Amino acid sequence: MQASPDSIPTALTPARRILMGPGPSDVDDAVLSAMARPTLGHLDPEFLTVMDELRGMLRSVFQTKNELTMPMSGTGSAGMETCMVNLLEPGDKALIGVNGVFGTRMAEVARRAGADVTEVKGEWGRAFTKEQLAAAATHDAYDLVAVVHAETSTGVLQPVPPVRELADELGALFMIDCVTSLAGHAVKIDEWRVDAAYSGTQKCLSCPPGLSPVTFSERAVEKMRRRKRPVQSWYLDLSLIQGYWGEERSYHHTAPINMLYALHEALRLVLVEGLEARFERHARNTDTLRAGLIELGLEPRVSGDERLNPLTTVAIPDGVDDGKVRGRLLKNFGLEIGGGLGPMKGNTWRIGLMGSGSTMRNAALCLAGLRDALAAQG
Ligand SMILES: *Cc1c(COP(=O)(O)O)cnc(C)c1O
Repeated sequence: MQASPDSIPTALTPARRILMGPGPSDVDDAVLSAMARPTLGHLDPEFLTVMDELRGMLRSVFQTKNELTMPMSGTGSAGMETCMVNLLEPGDKALIGVNGVFGTRMAEVARRAGADVTEVKGEWGRAFTKEQLAAAATHDAYDLVAVVHAETSTGVLQPVPPVRELADELGALFMIDCVTSLAGHAVKIDEWRVDAAYSGTQKCLSCPPGLSPVTFSERAVEKMRRRKRPVQSWYLDLSLIQGYWGEERSYHHTAPINMLYALHEALRLVLVEGLEARFERHARNTDTLRAGLIELGLEPRVSGDERLNPLTTVAIPDGVDDGKVRGRLLKNFGLEIGGGLGPMKGNTWRIGLMGSGSTMRNAALCLAGLRDALAAQG
């Protein structure tokens, strides 16, 4: 049927927001321009260079020499699922720290992969100690220990080396979720001896959502080689995907070419800035934000030593309407902040200062916006 001309939508002209929620974060114009470049074929020899450069830059940002390092097609959750379904076989034992939404999701995905999951329930808004995790173990040995490095639902940064120690004691591989930490906090895959890690493009990499960088140690690769049965997900099966990203370059699925251009440019910007300078910038701007929130009489939910720099959680004062404040910020300032998840729904705001969005100007604007919105409610 022919659409009548006045029923065809007009071309999109999305507003330019300031994205200070839990992700997506603001995307640099250079990254958006990279996406608008001509689409190459996914087997074009010229695209091979793009892929090689991408993997090299990803290794630098993950601080690893891992051969098996690449972006998966899909968002952060696809990376989580990739790690779980490739590393776990039915009956494998997994010890998983659950102190927020993303730990909960990890445990759920591991169970669906057929694993025997020991969930370690921790307090939302606190990091785990090694002792807490160890005390919850119900077996002498595990196949996998997994924690969330940067819990975006609560604003907590989990110290990694103590959990690696526990994984050693349990004879387990060690996995981290670094969706919100990668390029915002140090993620030292090799130094910390992390066996599997996944991230996402739309947090501190400041790229649109759609890819999930993953990396695997030699030990993890060995475990995959020894699998008794094939990975239950055909799409996320690394033994097949390596055929495309490795020497063979055989077709598995069509790579999302223009998203990969975007990630290429985003990684380049990270490396041009320098990792240390970038981490320092995230810390500095969050210092300003936290100090300003406290001045406004608002209370950050996480203490200074466990805080996540890319994302700050703050308690909503009694009597203040969550929806009205966020609505006013969006309307008057074009500014988006996030609401709470799970037990923090309705009582917590989540304020992101991620990637190129971590600026003094954004911190100041958010504080001005909150002052205005709180005053409007008396
Ligand atoms: C955002 C996020 C995810 C999930 O990523 P999606 O891109 O929404 O699929 C997983 N873990 C953490 C810690 C996150 O912040």
